Amino acid sequence: MRKSLFAMVSVAAAFAMPLGASAQTYPDRAITIVVPFSAGGPTDTVTRLVAEAMSKDLGQQVLVENVGGAGGTLGAARVAEAEPDGYTLLLHHIGMATSATLYRKLPYDTLNAFEYVGLVTEVPMTIVARKDFEPQDFKGLIDYVKAHKDEVTVANAGIGAASHLCGMLFMSAVETPLVTVPYQGTGPAMTDLLGGQVDIMCDQTTNTTKQIQAGTIKAYAVTTPERLDVLPDLPTVAEAGLPNMQVGIWHGLYAPKGTPAEVVDRLSKSLQVALKDENVVARFAELGTTPSPEADATPAALKAKLEGEIQRWQPIIEAAGVYAD
Ligand code: ASP
Repeated sequence: MRKSLFAMVSVAAAFAMPLGASAQTYPDRAITIVVPFSAGGPTDTVTRLVAEAMSKDLGQQVLVENVGGAGGTLGAARVAEAEPDGYTLLLHHIGMATSATLYRKLPYDTLNAFEYVGLVTEVPMTIVARKDFEPQDFKGLIDYVKAHKDEVTVANAGIGAASHLCGMLFMSAVETPLVTVPYQGTGPAMTDLLGGQVDIMCDQTTNTTKQIQAGTIKAYAVTTPERLDVLPDLPTVAEAGLPNMQVGIWHGLYAPKGTPAEVVDRLSKSLQVALKDENVVARFAELGTTPSPEADATPAALKAKLEGEIQRWQPIIEAAGVYAD
């Protein structure tokens, strides 16, 4: 039943596509989306939900491969070098923009190595700690880190990751550098936070909401201008005294440069369908985020976002003088 539905969907899709050698048959085998961080983390969670819905729409399996390391740049490099045939894609976040400046020797040219499929979602960050960490609120956290700056450890997913960026914003807002502990993704970092091996972390609600609700970690603030429906007791960074820490972690779907336009168009349409999928909408809501609107799940919107964000972060990173090399 499922199979025949897939077949019907593929046939309908093939007729709807413009003529072109690849477009006529695409996709005729499984597609892989590379997540440039470990399994079990926030980027992985978002990607698996979207991949499942795209798979239903495309009538082919959409697999997820985790290629973590170097703040997401290893996974991005893998896709930049992949065959531009629509079968290897990249789902990356704001780190795609910040790493363009943070890494002076990237193995790919950020603005010229990819085709843009579309924006996926923008996820709030939360500032969290191991359950038994002493400070009881955000003000207490600021006083505590200032008094114990050589002891407090901050987990992140490497230079260029969203957790790194948010951690940097926090340290700069409280004017206190702290000891950072890099992981290949905040999935394993969360495991260590739960185990008490590391003290604090800034991470997407897609990784922290369930733990905060279950009381297995402590939460201090959320980085959105408004409080979240799923975490109504959690103050915003502005309420908690640090308005400059507002940051949203946007995600985009990319293909290697040279992927045929018809294939990119098919993927973009499929992403738009996936972002309206009931399960995606419901699970995103539970995790404190919303799918990008259809107009943003487009190549033009992602291109504009990436270009704008590179320009926005470049002077901030240069002024901070923090580089990965
Ligand atoms: N999104 C996380 C970060 O940027 C990494 C991950 O998805 O594991 O820190």
